[in-house]
Amino acid sequence: MSQKQRSGVKFKQYTLRNISEIVQLQQLNNEQRFELEVVAQVLPFKTNQFVVDELIDWRNIPEDPIYQLTFPQRGMLHEDEFNRLAALLRDTNGSRDELQEAVNEIRYNLNPHPDGQMDTNVPEFKGAKIEGVQHKYAETALFFPQAGQTCHAYCTFCFRWAQFVGIDELRFAAPNMNRFVGYLKAHPEITDVLITGGDPMVMNSKMLRKTIEPLLSPELEHLQSVRIGTKSLAYWPHKYVDDPDAEDVLDVLSGVVRSGKHLAIMAHFSHTRELDPPIVAEAAQRLHDIGALIRTQSPVIRHINDDPEVWQEMWRRQVRLGMVPYYMFVERDTGARDYFAVPLARAYEIYREAIRNVSGLARTARGPSMSATPGKVEIQGIAEVGDEKFFVLRFIQARNAEWVQRPFFARFDPEATWLNHLIPAFGESEQFFQSQLYNSEIKAISGAIRM
Ligand SMILES: *Cc1c(COP(=O)(O)O)cnc(C)c1O
Ligand code: SF4
Repeated sequence: MSQKQRSGVKFKQYTLRNISEIVQLQQLNNEQRFELEVVAQVLPFKTNQFVVDELIDWRNIPEDPIYQLTFPQRGMLHEDEFNRLAALLRDTNGSRDELQEAVNEIRYNLNPHPDGQMDTNVPEFKGAKIEGVQHKYAETALFFPQAGQTCHAYCTFCFRWAQFVGIDELRFAAPNMNRFVGYLKAHPEITDVLITGGDPMVMNSKMLRKTIEPLLSPELEHLQSVRIGTKSLAYWPHKYVDDPDAEDVLDVLSGVVRSGKHLAIMAHFSHTRELDPPIVAEAAQRLHDIGALIRTQSPVIRHINDDPEVWQEMWRRQVRLGMVPYYMFVERDTGARDYFAVPLARAYEIYREAIRNVSGLARTARGPSMSATPGKVEIQGIAEVGDEKFFVLRFIQARNAEWVQRPFFARFDPEATWLNHLIPAFGESEQFFQSQLYNSEIKAISGAIRM
């Protein structure tokens, strides 16, 4: 049977509204189901039939990593917050307003806008901001198509969670492709556009075409690569195989390659489990067939993948599928951070142990890396000189390109989980880039700079 004739599979999704239709949840007792509902008031919840049937091992819940990845857990809220919400939900006389107020308060305590990213990196064109665009590093512009600001399922740790529950201040005004293309034309230093979300691959082929085709215009000859950041290979690989729209989606994507540019699929995989369903290999093959290259990335997250063996196995299997391991990230300081955070020292050990057990073909993965205000900072090592122990750091990407690759040092701290916890080593009062960062224009825009 040709691919065209394969009967299309239907995408079935679950939110809090129809969560009771997930039959596997019947194995939870009433108390556990209630806990899930309490936490899902605060953190976004969405999953789908593929994740439920093919990825979660229901014999192993709640510890199962994919269950932890997509189903809110009691420990993701502080005990007092959990109890407050639980009481409000149990109180049949309680008002909706009171519940909503509590939910909002708890959400604001979860640092919904880490790094002020949303306001600091929005570029201007002809005197007005271009909504839905971020331009932080010279060579790459990020584009957030409005129709791509949701996902096939939500990850419980996601740093973009605030936009899914509607409290994010960045309103994705219908991005105007003409203005974005105008901006790109005026910026020959931009070689890459990264289409991101949410997950832009929730868009159908028609929406995708409207987003991608303008980028292929002959006027944008300096644009070398179109990157697409997506979790779809894990959450909905059918998108490329037997979804009713699959052929058209592949056709739109292949237009990038036909126009003489590189098509980079930046695939988010959190766990080896996501590589198990045979349809993932099939989807990857079809993307390779149209000339795409798949690169992989993920944050390291407690309860999900804070284990070198998971990373080692994930990287090996990705290479076998023709994918190129790209980044290991440190999770941002937002959302259920206390539940998910892995100390930098531990993240580095996980990286090191995993990387030394894979061949050079998988050692393309860099990290662990923090996407912070000044740039992407990689922990390169933990070193000791005399009796001082310290982290060796470098910028993989920086707001100021001159900072890239320059090593710098911070006092070793086994508990530190983010750049702003790190104190400069050797008695320095600040890192080499800090005064420049504070003096730069972003201070004026964002007020408080947090690293
Ligand atoms: C990570 C990131 C990029 C892409 O960086 P590469 O190192 O080129 O993959 C671009 N813009 C922003 C804001 C980023 O965080
Ligand atoms: S798929 Fe990506 S954007 Fe969507 S919830 Fe997961 S991490 Fe966040």
